[in-house]
Amino acid sequence: MNKIVLITGSTSGIGLAIATQFAKEGYNIMFHGLESNGDDIAKEIGEKYQVKVAFSKANLLQSEAVEGLIAETISTFGHLHVLVNNAGIQFVSPIEDFPNAKYETIIAINMNAVFYASKAAWNQMKTQQFGRIINISSVHGLRASEFKSAYVAAKHGVIGMTKVLALEGAPFNITCNAICPGYVKTPLVEGQIKDQAKAHHMTADEVVQKVMLKKQAVKQFIPVEAIADMALLLAKESSTTITGTSFALDGGWSAQ
Ligand code: NAD
Repeated sequence: MNKIVLITGSTSGIGLAIATQFAKEGYNIMFHGLESNGDDIAKEIGEKYQVKVAFSKANLLQSEAVEGLIAETISTFGHLHVLVNNAGIQFVSPIEDFPNAKYETIIAINMNAVFYASKAAWNQMKTQQFGRIINISSVHGLRASEFKSAYVAAKHGVIGMTKVLALEGAPFNITCNAICPGYVKTPLVEGQIKDQAKAHHMTADEVVQKVMLKKQAVKQFIPVEAIADMALLLAKESSTTITGTSFALDGGWSAQ
């Protein structure tokens, strides 16, 4: 039987790369994201790799929508083996100007949705005696940078939650791990390059080298394929004892 994976935010960036890699390995995929062409993306990958796909645009801001996404996945495919909590947003501002509404939105999407999705998937994974929860945190779940109070708080929170779910899941062959990437060139980061170039009066290239990659020993963006490969490894049957851990894919940032 092909295993079923749900990847939140899989119609863009890192999530799309993870979905593509899982499709190549024969997983059936529940795609999800707010992109208007999400359905087409899902169908294209499904046809290319001959796997079953479905697509949802549930808005993760609402707990009911998150629960609905899990229920739809289980009713469509009959199972849910791997949940990749990937969807996330960013907003950068000094704390004194940080809009409360932005703070709450980041906490809701980047952290609370991880709780609601994992909770809703739990019973199914327990019944299957198999579950793999993979949380896409960030190097900002391990380290701080200024002006990212909401994002850093949410990503640290996800790492704490990962540890708890690992403990609770252990008796049922449910593992939970986090992946912590450094900078990855996706639409989320491309927006930041533009904003930072303006703020620092620099060119886009200068922002990348002097600001973004400053803390990474390896002065390159993290390739999305590296994150997808790590997710695939964590999803395996044989990874049952790898749990409660955070994997830094950060070009040496957190080695310092
Ligand atoms: P992205 O902007 O390319 O994709 C984000 C996805 O999340 C999109 O599909 C979007 O539709 C979805 N999404 C956003 N808000 C949503 C909402 N309210 N409801 C439903 N879906 C929503 O971003 P990305 O760079 O691929 O980021 C993916 C994850 O990786 C995020 O959690 C991000 O924090 C994390 N991350 C990214 C980087 C990086 O440098 N790009 C580094 C470390 C961690």
